[in-house]
Amino acid sequence: MIASLPAVAADNLFSTVDLHCHSTASDGILRPAELVSRAKLRGVTLLALTDHDTVAGLAEAQCAAEAENLAVLPGIELTASRGRRIVHIVGLNIDIESTALQGAIALREKLRIERALMIAERLEKRGFVGALAGARAEAGDAVLGRPHFARWMVAQGLVKNAAQAFKRYLGAGKLGDVAVAWPDMAASIATIEAAGGQAVLAHPLKYGLSRTQLLGLLNEFQQAGGRGVELVCGQQKPEQTRELNALLQRQAAIGQPLLCSVGSDFHQPGQSWRELGSARLPEGAEPIWTLWQTGVGTAIGT
Ligand code: MN
Ligand code: MN
Ligand code: MN
Repeated sequence: MIASLPAVAADNLFSTVDLHCHSTASDGILRPAELVSRAKLRGVTLLALTDHDTVAGLAEAQCAAEAENLAVLPGIELTASRGRRIVHIVGLNIDIESTALQGAIALREKLRIERALMIAERLEKRGFVGALAGARAEAGDAVLGRPHFARWMVAQGLVKNAAQAFKRYLGAGKLGDVAVAWPDMAASIATIEAAGGQAVLAHPLKYGLSRTQLLGLLNEFQQAGGRGVELVCGQQKPEQTRELNALLQRQAAIGQPLLCSVGSDFHQPGQSWRELGSARLPEGAEPIWTLWQTGVGTAIGT
């Protein structure tokens, strides 16, 4: 049910859907209201704001959405662990007041702050004086994270862009690669369920898994209560979408269906990120919003 959706013409609601994007509440460049305006301009009819481990941008986004007559679905992108790897889980249609969700957010905020302090300490020791204050200024109201350190480095002229900052200092195996004990995948799915939402596996092709490993992940995700997978997310080649779609058909055939989600993973205007509303599900894919369609009548009619 999507009682939280504002009154938007029901026949139009699912015509251009974008269920994954970021605002300044995490590591996006646009404020939630600016993001909503841009989505409206790009023809998006249903937008889920899915900031990393926070719902802090949603109030502003929903306020702006009302003025723009665009539907904004409450969402989040939870960081979770699976063994020694990290997976991202998008929670859609969540109740942001949920105690379970609030607890999960608070825990991640604590972990992020601890990590940022450790990164700052390492950077300062290496001679990056002022890294902590600089990154904090870049973060603004958002929880301090590696992208903010990267932006500070770019602003200082220490690297030519954020990608270089990650490659040299912040990414895997580098100085800023501090291990974090994120809550595990099953617990994170349970959190989203407890908040009345649907757990969707984010960008499944970005984990560097073999086909067999990916099937294992899909299995485990579905068994733990996950409802969907991002069939199209960010910059993804058509053949990748076809291969992933084939894996999802296989899951459905063995009685473990996962519904399809779609999102830009938009962070900022520019070439390296996909534009809001530009990702589309291929024909025949069963969209995650079929779960919400039954609720539309009641949400709209009242
Ligand atoms: Mn991000
Ligand atoms: Mn992600
Ligand atoms: Mn994302």
